[in-house]
Amino acid sequence: MKILTTIDEVRVASSDISKAGKTIGLIPTMGYLHEGHLSLFDNANEHSDITFASIFVNPTQFGPNEDYNKYPRDIDRDTELAEEHNVDYLFIPDALEMYPIGFCATMYIRNLTDKFEGQLRPGHFDGVALVVCKLFNIIRPDYAFFGQKDYQQTLVVKQMVKDLNMDTKIIVSPTIRLDSGLAMSSRNTYLSDEEKENATVLYYAMERAKDAIDNGERNRKEINAVLHKQLRSVQGIRIDYASIALANDLSEPDYFYPNEQAVILLAVYIGKTRLIDNFLITFQ
Ligand code: AMP
Repeated sequence: MKILTTIDEVRVASSDISKAGKTIGLIPTMGYLHEGHLSLFDNANEHSDITFASIFVNPTQFGPNEDYNKYPRDIDRDTELAEEHNVDYLFIPDALEMYPIGFCATMYIRNLTDKFEGQLRPGHFDGVALVVCKLFNIIRPDYAFFGQKDYQQTLVVKQMVKDLNMDTKIIVSPTIRLDSGLAMSSRNTYLSDEEKENATVLYYAMERAKDAIDNGERNRKEINAVLHKQLRSVQGIRIDYASIALANDLSEPDYFYPNEQAVILLAVYIGKTRLIDNFLITFQ
C-alpha cells in the first residue's frame, strides 16, 4: 500500500492507473476506522481494480461548537487496517493541503440539505459536498463508496454528481452494526459502557416502528410517535429528530402508500454523544 500526502502525488498515481486502463474505487473517510469502513474497502476491492481510500478529518463539515478538535484519530492503526484490507493507495492530506490559505470556494446543494441533519448542523453538507467534490477532482475515481449509515449524505452526494455531471458512480453499502444493533461509528468511542447499552435504543426504536408498519400503520405521525416513545424510554436522551420520510427526497407526507420506499431517520444525544442511524422500509 502506498501512502500519499500531497495532491500532486495523487494526480500522478491516478493518471498512471487510468493510462493502464484500470478502474479506481474511492472510499472517503475521516479515519478511526471500524468494520463499517472496512466493509466499504472490501466492496471497493470487488468493484474496482485499484482501491483508493482517503483519511481526512474535514474541518469544513464541522460546526463551530462541534467535535473537530476532539474527533478520534489513530493514523498508525488506520494504516495497518487499510493495508490488511487491500487498500492500494491511502491519501492522508493535511488541512492546508486541502484548504490552502486563500481558499474561497463553497458548495451548496439546495433542498435536500435544509432538513434533518442539514437543519440541525447548518453548513455540514456544504462541507461534505466540498470535500467530496475536491476528492473526486483530485483522484478521478470511477466508483466511490459510501455507507448507508449516513443516509442523507448519500442523497446529497448523488445529487451533486448528477447535477454537476461528475463521472463517478456512487455505490452505497449497508450499515454495519454490533450484535446489539448499535451502528458502528467512530464516535462510539465517546460512549461509556452504560451509554453504549442505552444507545441500543436507536435500533430498537426503529424495529418497533417497523413492527407497527408491518401491522398496517401508514400514518407518519403515528409511526413517529412509536419512535419517540421508544427513544424516551432511555432517561436523559435528547432527540434531535426521529421521523420517517420518503427515501428519495426526504419529504414527509401524512400517509405512506404501497410500494413507497421510506427511511426512518434518527439523531439523538446519548449523554454528550450525538448518534445518527436510519432504516429503509418499503411499504406493502
Ligand atoms: P466517516 O469516516 O464517518 O466519514 O465515514 C466514512 C464512510 O464510512 C461514510 O461513507 C460512512 O457512511 C461510512 N460508514 C460509517 N459508519 C458505517 C457503518 N457502520 N456501516 C457502513 N458504513 C459506514
